[in-house]
Amino acid sequence: MTEPIKSDVLIIGAGPCGMFAVFELGLLDMKAHVIDILDKIGGQCAELYPEKPIYDIPGIPYITGKGICDALMAQIKPFGATFHLQEMVETVERIGDPLFRVTTDRGKVFEIKVVVIAAGGGSFQPKRPPIPGIEAYENSSVFYSVRQLESFRDKRLLIVGGGDSALDWTLNLAPLARHLTLLHRRSEFRAAPDSVNKMMSLVGEGKIDFVLGQVSALGGEGGRLAKAIVKRSDGSSFDIACDALLPFFGLTMKLGPVASWGMDMKDGEYVVVDTATFESSLPGIFAIGDINWYPGKLKLILSGFHEGALMAQKAYRYVYPNKRLIFQYTTSSTSLHKKLGVA
Ligand SMILES: Cc1cc2nc3c(=O)[nH]c(=O)nc-3n(C[C@H](O)[C@H](O)[C@H](O)COP(=O)(O)OP(=O)(O)OC[C@H]3O[C@@H](n4cnc5c(N)ncnc54)[C@H](O)[C@@H]3O)c2cc1C
Repeated sequence: MTEPIKSDVLIIGAGPCGMFAVFELGLLDMKAHVIDILDKIGGQCAELYPEKPIYDIPGIPYITGKGICDALMAQIKPFGATFHLQEMVETVERIGDPLFRVTTDRGKVFEIKVVVIAAGGGSFQPKRPPIPGIEAYENSSVFYSVRQLESFRDKRLLIVGGGDSALDWTLNLAPLARHLTLLHRRSEFRAAPDSVNKMMSLVGEGKIDFVLGQVSALGGEGGRLAKAIVKRSDGSSFDIACDALLPFFGLTMKLGPVASWGMDMKDGEYVVVDTATFESSLPGIFAIGDINWYPGKLKLILSGFHEGALMAQKAYRYVYPNKRLIFQYTTSSTSLHKKLGVA
């Protein structure tokens, strides 16, 4: 069995609420590990609206989705949390009082005193394109994310989509692939213009192909892809020989495994919490941010920040059962200044 990672607190979800929880826990000397399925930190703000403005963060009249993520990263820097990206928490099991064993889909195991669920709307899942029989090729020849660039070296790749992910991976994989084709249903893109220009340059230099159309069927055997059959807008078809298909059609949010961890749930979707501590019905497991429910709940970033502060007060009692917690202001406490590195 994999050697477990032992620490005080594990935060599931690196959205704004999970990030701010690192700060509140750090002020009280609790070390945090943070896990997220996505390949970046910031949850909905980073994935769904990085360029959009947010106007209701207290004391900050205007900030973008990416801006708040960058600001939170700077704020939590003194506390040195460890981030584990592109990993989904699958199981949470009580093994002590309180001690939890948490496992991820990549085989990591954590032994942790306190679990904080900050999983937002759940896990982001890739949208599956409507291609008959695609399931038979998933994870062997069809991939919705790139975890290891090297696994695509010397392969014939077909990337499908017109957004940032499709364009970014086209640019990143082009130097490794034996042959790369980008397929999109129209000639307009939703991706950053700079990426589109770079992709077009590669096409101009004969390094990759760009083709218009939609995949209508796949051909291959035993989960190994040999070709994609592509339909043009005039109804005619042609084949593209390929070893791997990478469709990037965006993401949807699904609750994922959270509901099976044994806490009381509201409508099967939200973790019910006590509003004095933001603890779930299972002692030692907390829920903050969009994933929780209590009377009057508002799905706002500022609510999740408040919830993180109260959560940390109760978490302290599990991590340091024999110590008394003294309330301190960041403005005036020299011990907090030392922790923040401003002393
Ligand atoms: C378009 C848009 C505009 C918005 N504008 C505003 C606004 O102006 N003001 C405001 O306050 N709010 C706004 N919101 C809402 C705000 O973004 C959310 O309230 C906030 O993101 C919730 O933060 P969170 O940390 O709880 O969850 P999220 O941001 O959803 O992050 C949760 C993270 O948990 C990860 N995760 C889930 N399950 C697992 C698992 N099993 N293992 C590992 N990781 C997991 C997910 O990948 C995700 O990254 C807006 C939302 C949208 C979509």
